[in-house]
Amino acid sequence: MAEIIDGNAVADDVRQSLTDAIETLADAGARPGLATVLMGDDPASETYVNMKQRDCEEVGIEGTHVDVDGDASPAQLYDTLEDLNTDPDVHGYLVQSPVPDHIDYREVIHRIDPAKDVDGFHPENVGRLVAGNDRFRPCTPHGVQKLLEAYDVDTEGKDVTIVGRSRIVGKPLANLLIQKADDGNATVTVCHSRTENLAEKTRSADIVIAAVGVPEFVDGSMIGEGATVIDVGINRVETDTEKGYELVGDVEFESAKEKAGLITPVPGGVGPMTRAMLLYNTVKAASIQEDVDVDL
Ligand code: NDP
Repeated sequence: MAEIIDGNAVADDVRQSLTDAIETLADAGARPGLATVLMGDDPASETYVNMKQRDCEEVGIEGTHVDVDGDASPAQLYDTLEDLNTDPDVHGYLVQSPVPDHIDYREVIHRIDPAKDVDGFHPENVGRLVAGNDRFRPCTPHGVQKLLEAYDVDTEGKDVTIVGRSRIVGKPLANLLIQKADDGNATVTVCHSRTENLAEKTRSADIVIAAVGVPEFVDGSMIGEGATVIDVGINRVETDTEKGYELVGDVEFESAKEKAGLITPVPGGVGPMTRAMLLYNTVKAASIQEDVDVDL
């Protein structure tokens, strides 16, 4: 039976270390600032940006939020981004996705100043990460690395199978884990919808990371005895409970925990880490822009 990884506790530790860094910045007269931009009124996106703003308040980051009308033109949105690029009080910002259909999200990412791109999605930051010279690690992959580190799961020489090759999770995580670095040095297999014999690849892995977007895709039969299982997935599944839905991961928790040595739950695993690492990137952005050394 697996030990359950407590993502909330590790995220608390990250936030605690940020509090110290924020104090160091305050002593130098600087306060980290994070802006969120939401275009349109998607309710799930509203919830996400509200959570990010609340997180900022909790640790002492100056949070600002900009609402952009869902019918605004691309040029109007770009003006907002330009304002944020030149605002010295905003050290980092993000544009919540999805954006409305008439907006090209890639173009949006290109227009964010890479020095303020705390999601780590700008091509310059992606390139730096691949080159092993990262500035902002994307929040979810970085959060996964921090969880592994917190539970003393050494990745060096280990076989890691990632299910999912998305721009925001699978690909950057694979790149980070193959880096010649203490928190890398793994042998990584990346699976996707065209992968053949996928279960063999997960079963033989020391560490399985599921970022598929399919509820309970990875079950116990796909896990090797004693493996570490990291479930990135967050899926809303309808239920006849009062809430009407529950959140489930991309791993079938009940069967997987019988085989795994360590496993993340959903919720309470990777999710809180993603939120904490956004704060981390904001503090890092502030320390670079304000030229203040902090312990991160
Ligand atoms: P995407 O939809 O962008 O990518 C999913 C990946 O899974 C793709 O590479 C796709 O393959 C692959 N895939 C889909 N179906 C199958 C299948 N049947 N067999 C094998 N591979 C398959 O998702 P994201 O990476 O954005 O998100 C993944 C999950 O993580 C979601 O549940 C999302 O909600 C969650 N998430 C959670 C976060 C957190 O903070 N915990 C943050 C970000 C995401 P192909 O490329 O071939 O289409």
